[in-house]
Amino acid sequence: MRKRVAVALAGSALLLAACSTSGVPAPETVAATTSSVPSSSTSTSASTSTTSSTPPTSPSSTTPSATSASPTTTPTSPEDPVDPRWRFFTTDRTRYTSAWFAGVHRVMIGFGCTPAPYYAHDPRCPGSQGFHHGIDVVMPCGTPLTSAVDGVVAPASGPGKPDAAYGAYAFRIRVAAAGVDILIGHVRTVYVQPGQAVARGQRIALSADEGAPDGCHLHFEVRSVAGGLSTARDPLPLLGLHPVR
Ligand SMILES: [Zn+2]
Repeated sequence: MRKRVAVALAGSALLLAACSTSGVPAPETVAATTSSVPSSSTSTSASTSTTSSTPPTSPSSTTPSATSASPTTTPTSPEDPVDPRWRFFTTDRTRYTSAWFAGVHRVMIGFGCTPAPYYAHDPRCPGSQGFHHGIDVVMPCGTPLTSAVDGVVAPASGPGKPDAAYGAYAFRIRVAAAGVDILIGHVRTVYVQPGQAVARGQRIALSADEGAPDGCHLHFEVRSVAGGLSTARDPLPLLGLHPVR
């Protein structure tokens, strides 16, 4: 049915792309309207390193393998209370910040083929897997969401309108210069209106579970302007996740 549009975003227009998942903790403290994160509580691993504290030491001091899902990390985030509805379909246990949301949170479902049961089988995917057109980041209900781009809220109807699966209050921020719509799904409280200009740093909504069977989370999706599902591409460059360890 749907065709993959593997597109590397013309990221030049949008400054966000910079730090996706490289090793270094982002220096800028984007979030932190929620409770401060006592990341000192991650000292459970039996091995040597008693991480003395949390100062952002140079990552070179530790074994650099940022790739493989290091089984040392614990599955629970020290910040997010576990929502029993969350079901993680990724091996990535890293917690991330982003200019788009407050706090430090994990990815629940990544972009692309997934064994998550919520999606119809997609011929691009093996077995009975479906295709997830965005990235889901778990976070407590009511987590503030902030635009990280300058754009305009797209019309609530017409081409590319999010369907009911995204919740009744899903909306899109159109960045015409970059040729994309950024779809924000599952929110309930929205602070912006169709046609309204949105500035970087502006609060746009609160996370919720509207239309989501799997608990409160941000569904972040990037499509072509007024495009449908078939135009969705990997939103990671625009989401700009910064790992926190
Ligand atoms: Zn999603």
